[in-house]
Amino acid sequence: METALDPKVQEFMDKVQAKYAHEPEFVQAVQEVAEVIVPYVEENKKYKDAKILERMIVPERVFIFRVPWLDDKGEYQINTGYRIQMNSAIGPYKGGLRFHPSVNLSILKFLAFEQVFKNSLTTLPMGGGKGGSDFDPKGKSDNEVMKFCQSFMTELQKHIGADTDVPAGDIGVGAREVGYLFGQYKRLRDEFTGVLTGKGLEFGGSLIRPEATGYGCVYFAEEMLTFAGDELKGKTVVISGSGNVAQYACEKATQLGAKVVTLSDSSGFVYDPNGIDAEKLAFIMELKNVKRGRIKEYAEAFDGVEYYEGEKPWGIKCDVAMPCATQNELNGEAAQTLVNNGCICVAEGANMPSTPEAIHVFEQNKILYAPGKASNAGGVAVSGLEMSQNSNRIAWTAEEVDYKLKLIMQSIHQTCVKYGKEEHSDFVDYVKGANIGGFVKVADAMLAQGLV
Ligand code: NDP
Repeated sequence: METALDPKVQEFMDKVQAKYAHEPEFVQAVQEVAEVIVPYVEENKKYKDAKILERMIVPERVFIFRVPWLDDKGEYQINTGYRIQMNSAIGPYKGGLRFHPSVNLSILKFLAFEQVFKNSLTTLPMGGGKGGSDFDPKGKSDNEVMKFCQSFMTELQKHIGADTDVPAGDIGVGAREVGYLFGQYKRLRDEFTGVLTGKGLEFGGSLIRPEATGYGCVYFAEEMLTFAGDELKGKTVVISGSGNVAQYACEKATQLGAKVVTLSDSSGFVYDPNGIDAEKLAFIMELKNVKRGRIKEYAEAFDGVEYYEGEKPWGIKCDVAMPCATQNELNGEAAQTLVNNGCICVAEGANMPSTPEAIHVFEQNKILYAPGKASNAGGVAVSGLEMSQNSNRIAWTAEEVDYKLKLIMQSIHQTCVKYGKEEHSDFVDYVKGANIGGFVKVADAMLAQGLV
């Protein structure tokens, strides 16, 4: 289902492909942006002459380092650590750390590139970065996770700081890991600063940060539906993943009157036709966050739930789909199944979960489709609010942060409408809106700062 690219986009992508062929996820992320931004830049000569997009695809700086640590058996373990400092035109580098065996330079560069546009959309002064390691926290003891985090931070602390680069969590990096990382930073630098976000509430964390990405994604879906004259209430929702983003997307969607019928992990998915209500979600949070178990156990604990080993949930009939697990988890075939089953809205909680073929299906069928850089920006937005609270040595209430989060998601939606609404209809191309909206602020800052 390949579609021909605009000749200017093709020319740009040929060069990207030739140079970065060994980084497929990065090339994929660049192409999604280039399809919108190359034609936009052709019409806006100042960006073209200054080669803004060509500069944006090259990180300002990349660190790759050895992370040696000792496991519980006393054996030496070696992992690779990374930090990509992608763009600091509008603020300090900001973006999460991912600990997962699949982590490599291509995946982190795609995430860092996306992060630049996302952070710009939040309206807050944050540049873009991303980092992580091929370390797998799954199956490791708390002691091993701590040893790894301490070794990782021993190198990373040389390159980050509250005013230069502020990491946060991502896949495999939750409250436990952020706590260990912060402890080691403080020990080595002798500074108590907001150098990481997603911290515990006792040491500078913000209320609503754990909830922010999932809640924000649901707020965004609600905005899209409302703008289209519909509502979220009463809708059946299919969610993938069962980690941080998926859990709080499930919570907020349920609170707003929708019925969430699936969650998943990398082993399979559960289908609960009765809906995953607050009580059942509490079971999942305990299972995944404390016992670190598998989603399969949910099907064993509740009546009427089916478990599908090795499958993804996109075949389940729904009105709204929220992919909240990982990149490229929803392909063209799955997208066609969703559309055929009546799905009218897809809001991405994960980063780049839809393949280019899937996006093509959503666009062809003109359903409401929000790319992650718009719909999952709530997490980094509240990280930005955590940085503000740390700098000012204050703590806002949960209501205050949730209110600000909602306003930011509404503002991102308005930006998408501004740049993405079709001239003679109410249809909004959210891919176009998010990419141009995110690009303009960074591009103007880069123009103002000269050739750096
Ligand atoms: P978690 O580690 O908390 O959860 C990840 C979930 O996705 C788990 O259920 C995991 O299953 C599943 N998963 C991970 N890798 C795969 C895979 N290769 N195939 C199938 N399932 C997989 O991560 P988060 O919830 O924080 O992140 C989820 C997504 O949201 C990521 O794309 C992340 O980049 C994005 N995101 C996160 C933000 C945040 O604030 N945390 C902010 C913005 C975006 P299993 O337990 O089996 O590994």
